[in-house]
Amino acid sequence: MTPKQREQEAFTESYRQRSEIDAETLNIYLVALPCHCGQGGCAGWAMVSRNADSIRLHGELYAPDMTPEETAIWDAALKAAEGEGQPTRREDA
Ligand SMILES: [Zn+2]
Repeated sequence: MTPKQREQEAFTESYRQRSEIDAETLNIYLVALPCHCGQGGCAGWAMVSRNADSIRLHGELYAPDMTPEETAIWDAALKAAEGEGQPTRREDA
């Protein structure tokens, strides 16, 4: 596991504790991605809906200047979401 992946895991766990969501639900719907939004309080990570469109949009809007290591994490998340098809398990999706 790379240092960035460890950061991602730590951010995910801290988010999970703050939001009192169980790990399984979180992993179905959300993924932690590198964030360069520049807003105060930004930890350098953001929780994003785990679907390809949201992951692409987040990258374009909030992290267009990712490092290669961050890009690898973003790319892995995108590939996983694409592989899952439409992970939002909603009838109206
Ligand atoms: Zn941010």
